[in-house]
Parts: sequence; structure tokens; C-alpha cells
Amino acid sequence: MSRRGVMRTLSELPLIKGFRPLWLRTNYRQAVILRLEEYEAFRLVDYEGMTHEQVAEQMNVSRPTVTRIYDEARKKLARALVEGRTFIIEGGNVEVIGEHYQCDNCNERFVVDTDVRGQVFCPECDSDRLTNLSECFVRGCGRCRRCK
Ligand SMILES: [Zn+2]
Ligand SMILES: [Zn+2]
Repeated sequence: MSRRGVMRTLSELPLIKGFRPLWLRTNYRQAVILRLEEYEAFRLVDYEGMTHEQVAEQMNVSRPTVTRIYDEARKKLARALVEGRTFIIEGGNVEVIGEHYQCDNCNERFVVDTDVRGQVFCPECDSDRLTNLSECFVRGCGRCRRCK
């Protein structure tokens, strides 16, 4: 059972942090922010082809909640596309399992247990130049190389 008010935990984070419109200057202040549960509902319905009922079961929320989240995701994506806005996936009412990292050197993605302490290195190339994806996506980074 998930905690009250918390969406289903995510074990995967999106491949990208967002989109920037071609031809226009990137305007972060006017960016459309898609929350992680909106991204997840949109992905499950329009990419995986699931029904709202199936998504409700998977995300551990009611069917009307799925419909509301999904509609919001569609509206935001439409606004970004039509108005040429920068589009960022960030925040939301979700729990992510583990600390997710992406290596700035070789782009390898990997997950470390949240309770592991100390310096983290890329398992592929041993680099310590890492982006903490959990920071970027869940807590809202806005300062790392990838977010700028
Ligand atoms: Zn690496
Ligand atoms: Zn970041």
C-alpha cells in the first residue's frame, strides 16, 4: 500500500528533462512544467496504450484522478507545442526508488540505493562527473549542466 496522497513510486525516470523550441530563445521563466505523475499518466496512456482503468491500478490512484492528471498533461503539451514554449519535466507527487544518476562523461545511467553513503562513481567509466537525476527531476535542480 502506498502512503496516503503519494502516487505510485517510479522506478524509471524520463529519458530527457524536456524540450527547447527551435527558432526561439529558450525562456525558462515561461516554460511549461510537466509534473512526473502527469508524464507517467501520459506515457502509460499514449505510449503504452493503456486504458485509464489500467493506469489507475498501476499508479495506485482512482480512475477519475488518472483522467484529471492525463487531461492536464495533454493541455500542457498542447500549450508548449502551440505557443512554442520550453517544456520541462519536473517535480510532482511521486516517490522515486533509489538515487538515479547519469554520467556526464559516457551517458551511462545507473541507480544507487538511497542509503548508500560516500562518493559515487560511474560503473562504466569510473568518472565522478555525474548528474543526480533524482535531484533534477524530483526535487527540481535548475543548476546542473543538464538543466541549464
Ligand atoms: Zn561513465
Ligand atoms: Zn539538474
